[in-house]
Amino acid sequence: MMMKKLIDKLEQNSILSMDEYTELISNISPEIAEYLFEKARQARHKYYGHDVYIRGLIEFTNYCKNDCIYCGIRRSNKNAERYRLSKDDILQCCQSGYDLGFRTFVLQGGEDPYFTDERMISIISSIKQQFPDCALTLSIGEKEHESYQAFFDAGADRYLLRHETANDEHYRRLHPEEMSPLHRKKCLYDLKAIGYQVGCGFMVGSPYQTAENLAEDLLFIKELQPHMVGIGPFIAQHDTPFADRKNGTMNLTLFMLGLLRLTVPYALLPSTTALGTIHPLGREKGILAGANVVMPNLSPVSVRKKYLLYDNKICTGDEAAECRYCMQSRMESIGYHVVIDRGDCRTV
Ligand code: SAH
Repeated sequence: MMMKKLIDKLEQNSILSMDEYTELISNISPEIAEYLFEKARQARHKYYGHDVYIRGLIEFTNYCKNDCIYCGIRRSNKNAERYRLSKDDILQCCQSGYDLGFRTFVLQGGEDPYFTDERMISIISSIKQQFPDCALTLSIGEKEHESYQAFFDAGADRYLLRHETANDEHYRRLHPEEMSPLHRKKCLYDLKAIGYQVGCGFMVGSPYQTAENLAEDLLFIKELQPHMVGIGPFIAQHDTPFADRKNGTMNLTLFMLGLLRLTVPYALLPSTTALGTIHPLGREKGILAGANVVMPNLSPVSVRKKYLLYDNKICTGDEAAECRYCMQSRMESIGYHVVIDRGDCRTV
């Protein structure tokens, strides 16, 4: 079938078969991409208008007990300079974020055993107490059901846990033996059942990834029906075993954003920092391909250069306020507006 016909079909049904997705992903041209992005923007405008939601990202620890092959803060990376923020540091990040108009805070970190459930609950409760009109998102990896429940009961609203790849064999090539693709997916279903707004996601162009793998990601997402989907290009990190691998491309990442917008039209889709890292206008182009969220950094400048999941990460020298206003002007330059809002998902 003609590629445009496939995109029309996706627009109508919000789903394609594995073969159809694979065919689209394997036959990207500038013309087809523009056709997709136009439809993706229409869908995005229907649900979210020209609003762009901002999330204040607080990278509160880079200690990690996991050893994901691609990740710069994996435990085997002896060159990573480790840090943790204190609860007071975190609350200060939230306060400066609040003053800048953020109404969502994202606590992201490695899987750091120092942050026990008890410590997390104390941080979560304090944030929710001081900023009751804000949403709190956690992104701290795989936990037991009861921990997720306890964080939710303490006030956490959302949870980001990228599934990384929906294909089991591919998952195993990106992770050490002790990590299980099944367990990661189970976590996502647990989080949903508890009542979190849930985000999954994957890297584009990670080592060994095929077009079929990406099609499988879309079908997994269709089944999970997450509220958010975070994707970004894989970017090699020099201290990992994947140091010499090719980076994912901007064009494939944008195309996947467009396909996601038509597959889960209601979803919150960030235009990620990794996308901004591989191209100076990556985040603007992401919005124009169907994304509707950006996640400027609120971490203290003193630690920013240490949370290096991948090489050449942008904005590691900037103050929160600079990032906030930079983002605003970037969005205005393409006809979109940063809004002061929790930015909840419209409907699943
Ligand atoms: N420890 C948390 C947070 C992970 S870091 C968790 O397990 O969910 C957030 C995301 O960064 C990861 O899910 C991964 O998709 C992405 N990431 C890690 N290394 C990367 C790399 N080299 N290039 C691009 N993205 C990367």
